[in-house]
Amino acid sequence: MYKDIATPVRTKEILNKYGFSFKKSLGQNFLIDPNILRNIVSHADLTANSGAIEVGPGIGALTEHLARAAKKVVSFEIDQRLLPVLEDTLSPYDNVKIIHSDILKADVINVIAEEMPGIEDIMVVANLPYYVTTPILMKLLNDRLPIRGFVVMMQKEVADRISAKPGTKNYGSLSIAIQYYCTAEVAMIVPKTVFMPQPNVDSAVLRLIRHDKPPVTVINEDFLFEVTRASFAQRRKTILNNLQAGLQGGKEKKEAILAALASVGVEPARRGETLSIEEFGLLADALYPVFGNRQ
Ligand code: SAM
Repeated sequence: MYKDIATPVRTKEILNKYGFSFKKSLGQNFLIDPNILRNIVSHADLTANSGAIEVGPGIGALTEHLARAAKKVVSFEIDQRLLPVLEDTLSPYDNVKIIHSDILKADVINVIAEEMPGIEDIMVVANLPYYVTTPILMKLLNDRLPIRGFVVMMQKEVADRISAKPGTKNYGSLSIAIQYYCTAEVAMIVPKTVFMPQPNVDSAVLRLIRHDKPPVTVINEDFLFEVTRASFAQRRKTILNNLQAGLQGGKEKKEAILAALASVGVEPARRGETLSIEEFGLLADALYPVFGNRQ
């Protein structure tokens, strides 16, 4: 076993050797605690036959733990300055492929096909750059990757919103957008002290496991997400008022919304935060014939 990259002493050595300076704009907060890294990887339940996809390897702190646990690791890094560093720090591992790319622009499906042939169990495991947490998750979900799920570090506040249950203050359109695809749970809360430099916000590791099939099957998924976003536009407003403000329609709009609400048994005076995903699914389908093609 090689000496861990992520000890504070070794991290400082590596940063000094390459004269590396952190770019805040790229969300560069590196992990410097091997115990946390082992814990993150254990939540992914990888086996010697698994594949791991990482976003943002940094100097390789998490990458090497993934390399030890999985058959193959593919890691996307946007910052060119880190490529020679990773070449050096990850040289003991022959099962890691670093791809120099913005993950938001990468053709991840194609990369999986090329780099992970025959691997059936694939997890995304990453300490995400916090400035693009939600776009990265939504992109990887919309790409319909052949993956089992995600174990990802992010701001605790976002993890709380994603994993929130109906009727709680954190529940909103982001909870629904993610829970439509996955079960979501906060696996661990992580103190600021395990990062270099320390971030300004608290962190949490979120575990997302893809559903075999969505909790509700709808006519049009994009329309479901439009309806949920409209329903939460102003949290203090009723679902009727939010939908009236958010959906495009003619003068019969209010009647059409009331009829749709009645047909699925949702009181017009309820607030969006009280509706389950299943209720939003039924409601979206009831609204679709009138509003679905206007957006
Ligand atoms: N995995 C390392 C660790 O845990 O120590 C570094 C994590 S750091 C929070 C985020 C990493 O993502 C940085 O290396 C940063 O350069 C990289 N990054 C930022 N934006 C990115 C993007 N759009 N695509 C790929 N990598 C990105």
